[in-house]
Amino acid sequence: MTMPNTPPFDAQALLAEIREWVEIESPTPDAAAVNRMVDKVEAAGRAAGTRIARVAGRDGFGDHLLLSSPWGAEDEKGILVLSHLDTVHDIGTLAGPLPFRVEGDSAFGPGIYDMKGGALIALAALRHLIGTGRPTRLPVRHLFVSDEEVGSNTSRELIEREAARARFVLVTEPAREGGKLVTARKGTARFDIKVTGRPAHSGARHQDGRSAIKELARQILDLEAMTDYATGVTVNVGVIAGGTRANVVAEHASAAVDMRVPNPEIGDAAVARVLALASHDPDVTVEVTGGLNRPGYEKSAAIAALFEHARGLAEQLGFPLEDLMTGGGSDGNFTAHLVPTLDGLGVDGKGAHTLEEQLYVSSLVPRAMLLLRLMETLE
Ligand SMILES: [Zn+2]
Repeated sequence: MTMPNTPPFDAQALLAEIREWVEIESPTPDAAAVNRMVDKVEAAGRAAGTRIARVAGRDGFGDHLLLSSPWGAEDEKGILVLSHLDTVHDIGTLAGPLPFRVEGDSAFGPGIYDMKGGALIALAALRHLIGTGRPTRLPVRHLFVSDEEVGSNTSRELIEREAARARFVLVTEPAREGGKLVTARKGTARFDIKVTGRPAHSGARHQDGRSAIKELARQILDLEAMTDYATGVTVNVGVIAGGTRANVVAEHASAAVDMRVPNPEIGDAAVARVLALASHDPDVTVEVTGGLNRPGYEKSAAIAALFEHARGLAEQLGFPLEDLMTGGGSDGNFTAHLVPTLDGLGVDGKGAHTLEEQLYVSSLVPRAMLLLRLMETLE
C-alpha cells in the first residue's frame, strides 16, 4: 500500500473538533452531562456514515455508543477501538481553573488528554476511511463508554462482548512519556475495610473500650507492608475514617484501599491475603469487602507482535515508537487476555486527572495517521 503524500488530517481542524468535545463537560457521575457528549459523538457518527448502536445507561451512568464501519457482517471479527467519553473533572472546571486554551504546542482543557483527544482522532480516522470508499480488510467498531473513570462497571459486559468479535483491540487512552504506547498494565483491586470495636468513656471506663482506630492502625501497617516493588505489588490505604470524640474509645473505623498487581497469579494471592485479614484484638471485628476490579494486562507474544506492527507503521510515518508498562488501569485490562490489545494510542500530552491537563497539538496528525494505518493494515 502506498502512503499518501500529504496526510488527510489537519492539526487545527482536529483541534477545533476536540475543543467542541472538551467544551461539553462530562464528569462520570453526571449521566445527563455524559449523555450530551454521547449525543455529540452520535451526531458525528451519523454525519460520517457509520452504523450506530446506542446502549442505554444504567445505575445512574450515561449511555454507551458503538459506531461501526458500514462494511463487515455483524458476526465478522473486526478491529475494536475502545474509548471513553467520561472525565474526572466536575462541571465548572472549564469555566473555572481549566478553560480551553492553547499555549504554544499545548492545548489545555478538562479531559482533552484523557481522552477526548484520542477518541476524536480515532473517529476521524474511521470517518476518513468511510469517506475514501475503500473498505478495510476488517470491519472497524468504535465503542465509546461512559464510566471508565470509575471502573467501567456498567460497560464491562459490553466491552467483553465486543472484544469477543474482535481480532484486535486498539485503546485510545493517552500516550505516555513522549508518545509511548502501553502494552501492559497492572491489575487493580479495591477494598473497603470496616472495623468495629467497643466504645467506652476514655476517662472513666478506658479499660472496657476496644478501639477500632487502634486496630485499624495495625491493619494499615500490615497492608502497606504488602507493597513489594520487586514483584510489582503496591498497596495504598488512601482514605481512613473513624471515631467520634477525643474522649470516646472509638467503636468504628474504616479504610479504602487500592492495590495494583502485575499478573493474575500474584494478584489472586494478594487479593486472598487482604480478604483474609484478621483482627489482632479478638474483641474487635475486621470486615473486608472488595477484590479485583480490573485484571492484569500482560504483554503476550501476540501483543508484542501487534506492537511491532505498529512500530513499523510509525517508522514509515517518520516517527519512533516505544512501549511501556504502567500501573494505571484502563478498559484494555478487560480485553488484553482475550484479544491482542494495544493501548496508549491516543494523543500525546501530560497532566491527566489534573488541572494541568494538556495535549500536544503536534501529536494530533501523527497519532491520527498511526490509527488510520492500523485500521488499514490489520488483517
Ligand atoms: Zn482515560
